[in-house]
Amino acid sequence: MKPASFDYLAPTSLEEALALLADNPDAKLIAGGQSFVPVMNFRLASPPLLIDLNRIPSLAYINSDSTGLRIGAMTRNRALETSDVVRSANPLLSAAMPWIAHVAIRNRGTMGGSLSNADPAAELPAIAMVCDAEFTLDRRTGARTVKATDFFQGLFSTALAPDEILTRIRFPAWPANRRHGFFEVSRRHGDFAIVGAAVTLDLDANGRVAAARIGVFGAADTPVLVPDAAAALIGKSSTETTEFAREAGRIARARITPRADHQASSDYRAELIETLVRRALEQALGHAHRKAA
Ligand SMILES: Cc1cc2nc3c(=O)[nH]c(=O)nc-3n(C[C@H](O)[C@H](O)[C@H](O)COP(=O)(O)OP(=O)(O)OC[C@H]3O[C@@H](n4cnc5c(N)ncnc54)[C@H](O)[C@@H]3O)c2cc1C
Repeated sequence: MKPASFDYLAPTSLEEALALLADNPDAKLIAGGQSFVPVMNFRLASPPLLIDLNRIPSLAYINSDSTGLRIGAMTRNRALETSDVVRSANPLLSAAMPWIAHVAIRNRGTMGGSLSNADPAAELPAIAMVCDAEFTLDRRTGARTVKATDFFQGLFSTALAPDEILTRIRFPAWPANRRHGFFEVSRRHGDFAIVGAAVTLDLDANGRVAAARIGVFGAADTPVLVPDAAAALIGKSSTETTEFAREAGRIARARITPRADHQASSDYRAELIETLVRRALEQALGHAHRKAA
């Protein structure tokens, strides 16, 4: 199918885009188009006006300093995947990028588009939540900052108001003693995840877990953080944590009621939650072992 007819404008500055959005409440933004063009082709959306963000160069950048990593919303997923700055400033984000779709899609798809789309099986919303990222949402009259944990509100639903543009993603600085793990299962490489898990573990000077964050995606309407499972790891030595990784997997399974769809039953997703949380934690601990050796 082809989309219904629509008007198209391609502003060259953020101010222009914000003014257009404020003056046209039914307009929709388009970034990489990798999710929204199919939605329009299936006529699940028929906006009268598309506002294209692709000609606004100031929205595409990757910057890092001691305060953290800042990414412009129009930065392509492929640019994140191949960035040495991202690899050293946030190795978990870097590790997740190759799991997003295929290279051709990552060449067009943007970080802001993926986050705003809020697909429950997408990798970037989960990474943003696990890393405690925060988002800048701009509108003509000003800007506000929203934490990733408050941004994702339901299935394909976010805190974005119709006249707001997600412009910037900020990840807090990555501590030197942080380890990470990431696993997902999909039917074929490049498909959306059936379930995935992302974890960070911060070790103290004695190699004990001082802080942990565990996120699961694909299982519910939004990514889910599982603080109870993370709490089971606190104070445990990185050399004796395998049993606690199992325990954390069991807790995560008990805390999440997984959805069922054409890809997988709720029971299968529950199995995956337990297994993938354990594996992601073991992977993170493996990093710790390699570092210490
Ligand atoms: C075959 C296939 C496989 C895929 N597999 C995966 C996968 O495994 N994992 C995954 O995460 N994704 C996957 N995707 C989706 C892909 O990553 C998309 O690129 C991404 O979800 C949307 O990014 P985009 O830049 O293309 O956004 P668009 O499609 O342009 O926009 C998506 C939505 O976000 C809104 N939007 C875009 N930018 C902004 C902004 N800055 N502020 C406010 N609203 C905005 C748009 O209005 C629209 O509603 C797949 C896509 C395809 C076609």
